[in-house]
Amino acid sequence: MIRSLILLFLLVSAAQVNAAKMCSYQTYSWNTVTKSAVKHTTVNKPFAELTDEEIDAYTGCSVCEQDQRSIAISPLKPFSICRVLAPRLRDTLEDLISQGEPLRLIVGYRVGKTRGDVDENGTRTRFSNHSFGIAIDVNPDSNGLYDNCLVFNDACRLIRGGRWDPGQPESLTADSNIVHALEDLGLKWGGEIVGKQKDFMHFSPQGY
Ligand SMILES: [Zn+2]
Repeated sequence: MIRSLILLFLLVSAAQVNAAKMCSYQTYSWNTVTKSAVKHTTVNKPFAELTDEEIDAYTGCSVCEQDQRSIAISPLKPFSICRVLAPRLRDTLEDLISQGEPLRLIVGYRVGKTRGDVDENGTRTRFSNHSFGIAIDVNPDSNGLYDNCLVFNDACRLIRGGRWDPGQPESLTADSNIVHALEDLGLKWGGEIVGKQKDFMHFSPQGY
């Protein structure tokens, strides 16, 4: 009897520790009218109080800093990515760099509402995949994000990052070893997504 009471006490305590585990993150929202970041906010709350929009249903990764792991591989500047992806991504990047592949800069976890419908002020309402640490940008200076770009041509409009030039080594193409290695991890390349945008720097589970 006493033993089962002690066990019950331990189980309840463990549950309380888990429920009390805190989540923290800093976020902003993108305003499409002023083309600026607005609503800068710092959030601190128990994991148990996270809402559906703060967790990616596909991977289980959340917007919380506590779900992110830092990857530091020279010569890349350290960046963070969700704990679910971090170990395999680290191995893949180490291999690519040791093979001399031109990896110059990777950006991973970065919380912000830059997707989805806009509200009455023109402000985006959904977290990007970078917010959950499930997307990376590779060499953004040579792999820009283009709009008006169903198929890549001279009419595509560069809206972020640097010009994509498949003739230079830092720009990614469907044949790049970097693209193949990241696809092997289950990531899709934003250079091949369907729609009006081509995001040549971007990789995520769905490519968006
Ligand atoms: Zn991206």
